[in-house]
Amino acid sequence: MSLTDIIQLLQRLEVLIIIAAAIVVVLTIAVALRKRRGNGKRLSVSEKELDSIKVVSGLEEAVKEEPAPPEEHAEGLSDEEISKLETRVIESLMIRGALRPLPIPGSKEGGHYPELAGVSEKDAQRVIRGLIEKGLVIEAEREFSAVACPICGSCIQVAFISCKNCGSFRIEEMRYYRHICGYIGPESSFKTKLGLICPNCGGTENIETYHKKYRCPDCGAEFEEPNIAFRCGSCGSLYDEQTMEIKPFKRIESSREMLAEYEKVSSAINKQIELLKQMGYDIERPASLVGESGVVHKFDAAAKRGDEIIAVVSSFGEPLTQVLVRLGVARSDLKLSRIILVTSDRPTTTERKFARSLGIEIVEAT
Ligand SMILES: [Zn+2]
Ligand SMILES: [Zn+2]
Ligand SMILES: [Zn+2]
Repeated sequence: MSLTDIIQLLQRLEVLIIIAAAIVVVLTIAVALRKRRGNGKRLSVSEKELDSIKVVSGLEEAVKEEPAPPEEHAEGLSDEEISKLETRVIESLMIRGALRPLPIPGSKEGGHYPELAGVSEKDAQRVIRGLIEKGLVIEAEREFSAVACPICGSCIQVAFISCKNCGSFRIEEMRYYRHICGYIGPESSFKTKLGLICPNCGGTENIETYHKKYRCPDCGAEFEEPNIAFRCGSCGSLYDEQTMEIKPFKRIESSREMLAEYEKVSSAINKQIELLKQMGYDIERPASLVGESGVVHKFDAAAKRGDEIIAVVSSFGEPLTQVLVRLGVARSDLKLSRIILVTSDRPTTTERKFARSLGIEIVEAT
């Protein structure tokens, strides 16, 4: 073993210790939260959540204590639906290369990605954030910004003009016209029962707006540009250009390499699942399993046969050692028989050894 090898190993160990410490903290907090929730009122349990609990047949005792996995987004889409949406987004990225948000007039959200039409803003954010975390997409430049209420965030509003001096909403616009003959005068001098007529030459053609001004009947002030004020259509708050919230809408992009990696890994995952099916396992895909600690562990799939549970999981973006530590914790928390990790990274000898010691089988997607 050379000196660089030893240094690398030490660096790796240092990372491991930090990660392990972080996991201990997370688990402690999760257990504490769970105890607190247990004392409080029961969370409502959806049928889907109940289904996912059934997978943890070996841990019925833990489940009896706390039937609902503590999901933050109880009213949102299920993990399975989110994962289907992720696939839908990836597929359209393969065709179009980017997701472009479009403004939606009269909507609270102000804009949306057409690929995620019909999905709530919160769930759409969950899908996009999930893909960013996996390193499959990046947030690119801003396409546009919408004006939003600083109180409730809604983009539904009515815009008013108001007096720069006293704030009155009663300001009027004053137009000046110019005729082709050279005459310039206020609108009132052109206005007749028969329409606009030039008071200088009597012409009716080629009369155009020359200048626009605003006048406040309350304080008499005149100005070129009025203030713009907004009344929120959702909460009724009044705000203006100074206090308004700016809501940016960004393009979501993916690179060819990112998508190629995704295809490689997902076809390797499919192959593993197919093999497990042939071996007589029941497949749940995706799978959320509740550990003894109460922590919910998420996998691409869980294969079940009797008391035996095998988790199948893919890794994108995250360093392999970090993934292994996380999965090692999940395996003992869930008492899994085996974990199959599909990755497009090439594991080092140390990582291979480490995986073996944790009962994790690494499958390289090629
Ligand atoms: Zn005024
Ligand atoms: Zn004229
Ligand atoms: Zn509002």
